[in-house]
Amino acid sequence: MKAVAVFPSRREIRVVDHPEPKLTSPTEARMRVLEVGVCGTDREIAGFQYGTPPDGSDYLVIGHESLSEVVEVGAQVSKVKAGDLVVATVRRPCPHASCVACREGRQDFCYTGDYTERGIKRRHGFMTEFIVEEERYLNVVPRELREVGVLTEPLTIAEKSLEQLSMVQQRLPWACTGDAGKGPGRRCRAVVLGAGPVGILGAMALRLAGFEVTVYSRSAGHAEQNGIVSAIGARYIAAETHSVEELAAAAGPIDVVYEAVGASGVAFEVIKQLGPNGVFIFTGVPGRKGPIEVDTDDIMRDVVLNNQALLGSVNAPPHSFQAAIAHLGAFVSRWPDAVRSIITARFPIDQALEPLAAPGAGTKSVVQVSL
Ligand SMILES: [Zn+2]
Ligand SMILES: [Zn+2]
Repeated sequence: MKAVAVFPSRREIRVVDHPEPKLTSPTEARMRVLEVGVCGTDREIAGFQYGTPPDGSDYLVIGHESLSEVVEVGAQVSKVKAGDLVVATVRRPCPHASCVACREGRQDFCYTGDYTERGIKRRHGFMTEFIVEEERYLNVVPRELREVGVLTEPLTIAEKSLEQLSMVQQRLPWACTGDAGKGPGRRCRAVVLGAGPVGILGAMALRLAGFEVTVYSRSAGHAEQNGIVSAIGARYIAAETHSVEELAAAAGPIDVVYEAVGASGVAFEVIKQLGPNGVFIFTGVPGRKGPIEVDTDDIMRDVVLNNQALLGSVNAPPHSFQAAIAHLGAFVSRWPDAVRSIITARFPIDQALEPLAAPGAGTKSVVQVSL
């Protein structure tokens, strides 16, 4: 069967003939892959910056944002059945008995770093015709979300972040987590940095949770992102024409910043604009661009005097996938056109190298493996 494979040692990426997987345990299910989303992580793997093949393989099948259909289940599988649409989680536990996170099924908090990840680290990914997975790593997606279900995995980044945010903000007796009416006489205010898929989906999750949302992004020329932001009742401020001080004046006082650009320069400029008791959530992984100058005394003083929290978040547990599926359904009933318009291009698997090479003008590119 066809699979998109990255050969790190040869610095080569192409569609290969990959052996079709079979069930090897009674708790596994076999799926026909429908769609696989392409993100910055995939493009970095396709650019040979990281990405590790499984032991004994000279290539890695890429792809971690999946939507597939169950075609066969093992004798002990009870959670999914043939015909179900499913999204698989990405990270698998490390083998160490001492890692309490992995032993608890929370490999998103792995202590050792020896976890594996499908399509990223030592496990083949989903950009191929058929996959096999343990049922505990599968999440059922309702049929009516067929068109947008591939957005589940990128939405889990926001789901885990917002759960962490609400835990941190339980320190405030009035629980400033966006729930209108419970706040200190006003709605809580969020700034989203970046209008890529992670930023847009984060803005939707924050709007759904009741936050006032401002998206600050460099992609001023991208009318469709701007259109999506307005459609969900958020505000778009273009970074090219508005300084972070102007952003803060328009959006503040800022209770939460959801960073989804992976650029430390703008992130550390915006940290200085975080309001009292605010939380700054980092989700992007910056590339190495050399040192930048920031006034650390200034930042440290503000963090202390304003009770601020800086929080990093990566990967997501199964319950964040379930939350993402439920919230994707809520997004579709509230903003059907906006959600659909996040996916701007679909490519057949033979043309997968195109979105893997460059992001293109739209928001989200998807590889359509089968119909
Ligand atoms: Zn991704
Ligand atoms: Zn671990």
